[in-house]
Amino acid sequence: MTLSDLVNPSVLSQPVYEPGKPIEDVARELGLDPAGIVKLASNENPLGASPLAVSAATRALGQAELYPDGGAFALRQKLSVRHGLAPEQFVIGNGSNEILELLGHVFLRPGDEVVMGAPAFIVYKLVTLLFGARPVEVPLVNHRHDLAALARAITPRTKLVFLPSPNNPTGTANTPEEIAEFVRALPSHVVFAFDEAYAEYLENPPDLRPLIAEGRKVIGLRTFSKIYGLAALRVGYGYASPELAGLLNRVRQPFNVNAIGQAAALAALDDDAFVHRTREANTHGLRQLEQGFTRRGLEWVPSVANFLLVRVGDGARGFVELQKRGVIVRPMKPYGMPEWLRVTVGTDAQNLRLLAAFDAVFGTSG
Ligand SMILES: *Cc1c(COP(=O)(O)O)cnc(C)c1O
Repeated sequence: MTLSDLVNPSVLSQPVYEPGKPIEDVARELGLDPAGIVKLASNENPLGASPLAVSAATRALGQAELYPDGGAFALRQKLSVRHGLAPEQFVIGNGSNEILELLGHVFLRPGDEVVMGAPAFIVYKLVTLLFGARPVEVPLVNHRHDLAALARAITPRTKLVFLPSPNNPTGTANTPEEIAEFVRALPSHVVFAFDEAYAEYLENPPDLRPLIAEGRKVIGLRTFSKIYGLAALRVGYGYASPELAGLLNRVRQPFNVNAIGQAAALAALDDDAFVHRTREANTHGLRQLEQGFTRRGLEWVPSVANFLLVRVGDGARGFVELQKRGVIVRPMKPYGMPEWLRVTVGTDAQNLRLLAAFDAVFGTSG
């Protein structure tokens, strides 16, 4: 008997998530100075972390010997005031990625189907496969989720629908009206997971709360990793009916979110100035990259998030060559788009550096 004979078969067939390459790895592999490397590969905040959050996290380290509040009382309280929902309507996760997995624990059994767009955030597919369920992938149209096609893909076996808006990796969004209409037409055996990792970048984000109030089976997922700049600390949350949030809280580990992260997230919610600055910088950076790519004759996908897709031909080669010049981006082959790169919007200087590296690698000029 070998070890693999003993393993849950879903584990053996589980695809591997390929994260953005860490700066330290690239520095080590290519003999570069880490200080000179620009990472525009994981949609992190180029302005850094919320300063209020960093101070709070630093203070929280002073009590590192204590277990965190497993119920994240203060954070759920503050979120409840912010969103006008009850504290029982929240589940706090080790990043919103953990909540995606909790949805699998609560709802998925072998033979179930999960409807999702393609390309969309790969974690939906990973979670689905991990629980022995079947991903039903619906192609995007013009790089945007086709909600009518998603609705047609639903069968009596469908348990979950995952929808990110803005979508990662395309940066496209569906309108609040489209989403509300889609949710109201869902059959009652389907749970709708609305991934709002980039919602804070939208001028007019959809509002899930009326749908929750109507008793729809929906959950909104948010993260502190993106606009608040706290990706290292792993904090995200879901909000839903008390019943749905309660189910997710039941299956999570008792201390799933550490105290440093909770303190940082709590303070970040007060840092409106940082969020505002980030949004302004992002708007500027998006225009800079759009114009830069247009001048170079490169096709790109209009984005409402903090990243965008650009078509370079051989994405795998582009990724490797840009990396040699100290610029890390994300190759899109794992998303079925081998000719494309996904580029996070950086600071003004980082964007110029990226465009200069493009010219060196792809022979373009701006
Ligand atoms: C970054 C991202 C997340 C959030 O990840 P965390 O686990 O909260 O860091 C979730 N969904 C999408 C689509 C993302 O791009």
